[in-house]
Amino acid sequence: INANMKLPRCFLHLNSTQVSNSDLRVMQWNVLSQTIGQHYDKFVLTPRRALDWKYRRGNILSEIISYLPDVICLQEVDHFEFLRRTLATQGYTGVFNPKPDSPCLHVKDNNGPDGCAIFYLKNRFETLKLKQTVLPVWTINSNQVAISIQLRDIRTNKSVCIATTHLKARSGALMSSIRKEQGRALLEFVNETSEGNAAVICGDFNAEPTEPVYELFSKSSLNLGSAYAYNGEEPEYTSWKVREEGEQRQTLDYIFYTKNNLQVNSVLKFPTGCEIGECRLPSLIYPSDHLSLVCDMSFK
Ligand code: NDP
Ligand code: CA
Repeated sequence: INANMKLPRCFLHLNSTQVSNSDLRVMQWNVLSQTIGQHYDKFVLTPRRALDWKYRRGNILSEIISYLPDVICLQEVDHFEFLRRTLATQGYTGVFNPKPDSPCLHVKDNNGPDGCAIFYLKNRFETLKLKQTVLPVWTINSNQVAISIQLRDIRTNKSVCIATTHLKARSGALMSSIRKEQGRALLEFVNETSEGNAAVICGDFNAEPTEPVYELFSKSSLNLGSAYAYNGEEPEYTSWKVREEGEQRQTLDYIFYTKNNLQVNSVLKFPTGCEIGECRLPSLIYPSDHLSLVCDMSFK
């Protein structure tokens, strides 16, 4: 496989009747902060050129635009202004919630804090409600943020709440319980915005499906399903990187949705290990250490 050639990713259709009938295409993607990726992450096999912003930004944009999502949920955004300006040419408008003490700010020559962003098609949706928050952990504000936005589809008059977050990174029992607390706060936050309407919660949860926060979401009173767990199991990976400590192939990113109001019609398949290549992620063709998740949904 040529390391410079991007093979197309195909959609897996889950029910044949709804293929062309979807109401909503959602993208979830941790795009990898430029400052963190270049100065902090130490991806040992990634070619240096792949981490250059002027090179990488084109791949980020073309990946987003090639799937024409109605709604885009992003994490580790530290070039919001660039995305806002460029995605505006394609009809999108966006909201940014920076982390209060972003690790980017501790790196020389940073481009500002990283945070979460939601973009959506401006002429397609009316914004009914917009909420931004810092997620509390045991009543104290953490360094992790969330956005929740209630959108009305002008074509169908149906409303959907879209939320996104990037939960605390790192392994260990304490980090895992911090993520669970943040997840609890996120569910409350979404519940307040959605008020019983359809909701889609996208994020880099930094948690494998075996973690308590995943169980919390699976058992939530919002009755959530996970778009990529269509056969009962999450995919084998959404992130694949090689740092100095070794190789990490993990499932950390999810698109949760309220099963009472929504159904998933198709999901964008992930590239195989062979297609990703031996340097893993990020690479000259995949600009982030996380893969994008895209799914088509319709209202029930
Ligand atoms: P998190 O633990 O949530 O991680 C922050 C970022 O680091 C994430 O984007 C994460 O990416 C990335 N990351 C996770 N693991 C690694 C790793 N092994 N190597 C490189 N990058 C990694 O941090 P918080 O936002 O909670 O910030 C923690 C605190 O640390 C803040 O107060 C911050 O200011 C401070 N800090 C200070 C620095 C300094 O130089 N003084 C440097 C960095 C942070 P992903 O989610 O994809 O894993
Ligand atoms: Ca990261």
